[in-house]
Amino acid sequence: MEALIFNVLAETAAKTATEIYVIGGFVRDLYLDRPSKDIDVVVLGNGISFAEKVGQKLKTNVAVFKNFGTAMLKHADLEVEFVGARKESYRANSRKPIVEDGTLEDDQLRRDFTINALAISLNQTDFGAVVDPFNGLEDLQNKLIRTPLDPVITFSDDPLRMMRAIRFATQLDFQIEQTAVDAIKSQKERIKIVSKERITDELNKIILAKKPSIGFNYLFDTGLLELIFPQMAKLYGVDIIKGRAHKDNFYHTLEVLDNICQTTDDLWLRWAAILHDIAKPATKRFEEGHGWTFHGHEDRGARMVPQIFAQLKLPLNEKMKFVQKLVLLHLRPIVLAQDIVTDSAVRRLLFEAGEDIDSLMLLCNADVTTKNEYKIKKYRNNFELVKQKLKDVEERDQLRNWQPPISGNDIMETFGLPAGKEVGVLKNAIREAILEGDITNSYQEAFNFMLQKAKELGLSPV
Ligand code: ATP
Repeated sequence: MEALIFNVLAETAAKTATEIYVIGGFVRDLYLDRPSKDIDVVVLGNGISFAEKVGQKLKTNVAVFKNFGTAMLKHADLEVEFVGARKESYRANSRKPIVEDGTLEDDQLRRDFTINALAISLNQTDFGAVVDPFNGLEDLQNKLIRTPLDPVITFSDDPLRMMRAIRFATQLDFQIEQTAVDAIKSQKERIKIVSKERITDELNKIILAKKPSIGFNYLFDTGLLELIFPQMAKLYGVDIIKGRAHKDNFYHTLEVLDNICQTTDDLWLRWAAILHDIAKPATKRFEEGHGWTFHGHEDRGARMVPQIFAQLKLPLNEKMKFVQKLVLLHLRPIVLAQDIVTDSAVRRLLFEAGEDIDSLMLLCNADVTTKNEYKIKKYRNNFELVKQKLKDVEERDQLRNWQPPISGNDIMETFGLPAGKEVGVLKNAIREAILEGDITNSYQEAFNFMLQKAKELGLSPV
């Protein structure tokens, strides 16, 4: 498919005597052996009218974006975007440039990184030749993110590029050239002119990479994290009182995040890993004779989640609720795994976690970052035991999607009661009896238990 589209592009270029090049991400990914479906074509001339000619040839519709001077068409699973070569200049208060027609070199110079400025000719005279004015190929070899211009200018002009540099470094496992890192440090405040949505978009791409800690280390070291997500930056640091230190919760969180990335691609489970200890700084205490404690950090952390999601413009929907639930429950399997695992404790966990129990177990496994081999073994063995028990209890009691076997309506009808406190008392008593294992999760046992409990309250069926 690709070969066909490139032939059509080249033929149209020859016929119309127009110079065109493939440019940007597609070329970069070609050399990195990363399959890419987005092809950007730069046209020395009018991008839109060239796109229309290609569209006629392929008998495909062309979407035209007049305001941007771009056009796009789809061919099989490929998306081809056409743009006239342009030159850009920037003003201080906006990341939107003033645009004018330019040469290929102008167009390459406006690109963010040398590896994103590579172009391949689709012209008859030198079809397939690489145009690489800034040594992008060498940077690909050396795994280096470098800017074509002075990085201070590149990042100041469009501060989103700071996030993009860190995102590419994370996705590709590249290093950012030291002068560019220094430029991010000096230009970090400029990030304030970028919309929260765009920042979070890049942040999510970092989180979805194979090893997100690469990106978070850059974000922290450059000072960007403090500006875009201060709660996470606050996790950094170790306090020492009377010779006792707690672990650095920033690096612990990164370890947990990298760990969980080996078992899940789910963005929200990865967010749960980032946020699981987010309230540790706020709950940190030094207790005499005890050392450092973080009592209630799971509860406080869960309550911080909605505000953090709102601040980062993440969705305030069931994804947020999922993250909140995991933060709230993240200690539970560990506590179970340290102790003797009783059926009723397992049943309670299953009841509270519901459908998300498997995600919770993945989070807890990832949370084991001790370097003590003995402890690792003990926790992992106990986790296996908890998992086995979860399976047994689930098979027997089906608590994952628990619905009370006796509803409030059943109770009201049986005893001729209006809605009120007594109905709640009976409902709770039934639930507790099931979770404790005093009765099974069945209608008949729950009904008998209810009759007996009602008698104690002086109620009788009507
Ligand atoms: P990905 O598809 O992984 O996001 P990409 O490089 O294809 O990678 P796009 O955002 O589609 O990313 O950008 C296409 C090309 O446009 C880039 O390769 C780069 O040359 C250029 N580009 C994109 N954003 C910027 C920017 N903010 N500043 C300068 N050049 C940019």
